Amino acid sequence: MGTRWPRCYTAGLGLALVLCAGGCQTGTEPFTGRKQYMMSMSAQDECKLGLDAWQETLKATPVSNNAEMSAAVQRVGKAIQAVASGPSTAAYQWEFVVLASKDANAFCLPGGKVAVYEGLFAYAKNDAELAAVVGHEVGHAVARHGVERMSEQQTAGYVGAALDAVLASKKLPNRELYMKAFALGAQYGAILPFSRVQEYAADQIGLMYMAQAGYTPEAAVTFWQRFAGKDAGQKSPFSDWLSTHPLDEKRIANMKQLMAKASLEYAKAPAKKNHGTAWK
Ligand SMILES: [Zn+2]
Repeated sequence: MGTRWPRCYTAGLGLALVLCAGGCQTGTEPFTGRKQYMMSMSAQDECKLGLDAWQETLKATPVSNNAEMSAAVQRVGKAIQAVASGPSTAAYQWEFVVLASKDANAFCLPGGKVAVYEGLFAYAKNDAELAAVVGHEVGHAVARHGVERMSEQQTAGYVGAALDAVLASKKLPNRELYMKAFALGAQYGAILPFSRVQEYAADQIGLMYMAQAGYTPEAAVTFWQRFAGKDAGQKSPFSDWLSTHPLDEKRIANMKQLMAKASLEYAKAPAKKNHGTAWK
C-alpha cells in the first residue's frame, strides 16, 4: 500500500499560514509534541458533526448481535477512555460499539464514538491487541485529526461556506464534505485514509494509551504483524483496514522504537491487565 497518501502529507507551512488568515487555532498533539494548525472550531461543534456522522453510520451499518465481541470492545474501550484526554475530550460522550460487518476495520469519530467491525476480530486475539486498535482510533479523535483534516480541506476549497451552514443551521447541505473530513466516505461506513503523519501519530498515542491502561504494549506489534499477514501462512486482509491504515515496514519499526517509552508507561499503570481476556 502507500499510494494513497492524502494531500495533507505534502502540505507544509504555507498551508498553515493560509489557514491562519481565515481564523485558526494551534494545538499540540499528545505524546508526539507535533504542532497542529487548525481552523477555529469549538469542541461542541466538533462533537455535533461527529455525532451526525455517527448516526448516519449506524443507519447504514447495523450494530452487532455478538455479545462476546461487544463486551470486549466495551471493556477495552472503557479502559482506554479512562487514560485518554485532550483539548476536546471534556465535551466527548464516549461510546464503544461493534458493527455487523465482515470488514476488518475500525474508526473513532470526534465526540468519542468508537466502532470496531466484527471482521477485525479475526486478527485481534485478546484484549491487549484490541486495545492497540481502539487506542489508535481514540488517538485520532483526541488529537483532533478530523478537525485538522477538515481545515486542510477547507483551505483546498472543499468545505468552505458549506461547513458554516452546517454549524449554523444543523441542516446538512452537503454531508459528504465533513463525512470525508471525519474519515467516513460518501458511502457511509467506508473509511478514508488519514495522512501518514496522522497515522504514525495515532500509532504512538494508541501505544501509550494501551500501556497506561495496563495492556502489554508489545501486543500492538503482534497485532500489526498478524494483520499484515506476516505471521506464517496468514493471509492479509488488504482490502479493509490496510487500505485506510497503510502499513509499511516503517510503521512496525516505529512502534518497536517506541516500546521502551511504552514500557515505562506500562510500569506506571496502576492495574496491570497484561494481555487481558483471550477470546479465541
Ligand atoms: Zn488510523
